Amino acid sequence: MPHQATAPEHRTTTTERGSFAHARCSCGWTGPARRSRDKARTDADQHESAAF
Ligand SMILES: [Zn+2]
Repeated sequence: MPHQATAPEHRTTTTERGSFAHARCSCGWTGPARRSRDKARTDADQHESAAF
């Protein structure tokens, strides 16, 4: 798969399910279930940072 120098497709969102929240990314990555949305948001931020 050729790797072009285009903008990375890493758009993260957080999803809440019951009392848990987890981060999801447009690349297919899913973060671990967290008890707080803040933690899920942090997972998403770290994933986006790591993608660069
Ligand atoms: Zn991603």
